[in-house]
Amino acid sequence: MKKVIVIGAGLAGSEAAWQAAEHGAEVLLYEMRPKKTTPAHKTDGFAELVCSNSLRGAGLENAVGVLKEEMRRLRSLIMEAADATKVPAGGALAVDRHGFSDYVTRYVSAHPRITVIREEVERIPLREDAVTVVASGPLTDGSLAEDIAARTGGDSLYFYDAAAPIVGMDSIDMSKAYRASRYGKGEAAYINCPMTREEYEAFWTELVQAKKAPTKAFEKEKFFEGCMPVEVMAGRGKDTLLFGPLKPVGLEHPETGVRPYAVVQLRQDNASATLYNIVGFQTHLKWPEQRRVFQMIPGLEQAEFLRYGVMHRNTFLNSPKHMRPTLQFRGEDRLLFAGQMTGVEGYIESASSGLVAGINAARLAGGQDPLIFPAESCHGALCHYITTSEARHFQPMNVNFGILPPIELRDERGRYIKDKKRKKQLLAQRALAAIESFRNALTK
Ligand code: FAD
Repeated sequence: MKKVIVIGAGLAGSEAAWQAAEHGAEVLLYEMRPKKTTPAHKTDGFAELVCSNSLRGAGLENAVGVLKEEMRRLRSLIMEAADATKVPAGGALAVDRHGFSDYVTRYVSAHPRITVIREEVERIPLREDAVTVVASGPLTDGSLAEDIAARTGGDSLYFYDAAAPIVGMDSIDMSKAYRASRYGKGEAAYINCPMTREEYEAFWTELVQAKKAPTKAFEKEKFFEGCMPVEVMAGRGKDTLLFGPLKPVGLEHPETGVRPYAVVQLRQDNASATLYNIVGFQTHLKWPEQRRVFQMIPGLEQAEFLRYGVMHRNTFLNSPKHMRPTLQFRGEDRLLFAGQMTGVEGYIESASSGLVAGINAARLAGGQDPLIFPAESCHGALCHYITTSEARHFQPMNVNFGILPPIELRDERGRYIKDKKRKKQLLAQRALAAIESFRNALTK
């Protein structure tokens, strides 16, 4: 059996090493801290939470709660540590960050099949006798980042993440919004939210005054004109947005022929058209402020935000171009990536991708085929999303129900029923059933 080499003992790498070892592989786990650290880490512990101590929603009414439950059923060490060190946090699962990291460090270090090596890895080690998992996180830099960039052709490793919010299609009020492409070109691909002058001015006033998220010192980078935060652009003048992302020309209402004063456009974000991103709305606003201000847009009053806009330093691959749903690098079967690097967003999402990569690395090391996790599970849906999205617009993603294959609720006469709560329950049940049969097949 080949060895498994894991680079980085963060959320993803610790889980990957654990899973690979639990599935029978001998693991070499490289961690550069404390010899070298990142601008966000403060300790030398594994799975350090660099910011909030919340692992987000605990219940099964949230996709992230379902993802956590799937991880528990697949014997995740990160979830075991989280459950053992949780602190009161209402509907969320929050942990004692030091207790959590100590737990992971202790169990990983004591595993008889894991050898921890405290060294920086400067080049991806591709050896005949090993399978490698790169889980060096969103702050990967230096020689390792250069090596990864070289392998991806240089144009596919992003160092800055400027993502616009994503809303659920079924939460957009289509009695106010309409489908159209500018100047009627091609199919009516965009959803357009029209604004009157009064609506625009009220929106602009709130946007420029809204509270922004604090920036870390190492993130104070110059914005490119192409991905300037929408609130910064708005701050340049009352009419600036009308010549930028809210430009109304060519977007006359298809029924009335009237050109609105301003138009916010939403672009389809996934193949099943359940998610739409707000074009040009990359933003630094705090999340509750995004909801408050962006819900002023006609048609988005009830919008469900499935991912908020973010702008932060984030090294990630253009995974649709370079990765397979098994988390293998295209063209190099012995190489897998995991964690925030793959374009998943969040602590739990990172750990879950480590779980997928760890299991598949152990299978590859033992001469077995790697597995694609079931599409109906949150694990499978995340792997599917990051590897099949449109490469040109690829941005990191949190887990959410919108990326799962949709379920349509209909009454006995076949009429569509809008019952979000019931739909989420069914999606959660289906995901857990899929992961149960997957686990049973895995352990046979
Ligand atoms: P990490 O947890 O960062 O692990 C990477 C590990 O690799 C580190 O231990 C690092 O030391 C090691 N490493 C790096 N390079 C090398 C090398 N060359 N050789 C050896 N070891 C190496 N997500 C949330 O859900 N909530 C938050 O509040 C949150 N806040 C964030 C704040 C910041 C500043 C950043 C950058 C991200 C934040 N994230 C947050 C996003 C993400 O969930 C975390 O970054 C998460 O830690 C990612 O997990 P990971 O395993 O991919 O990377």
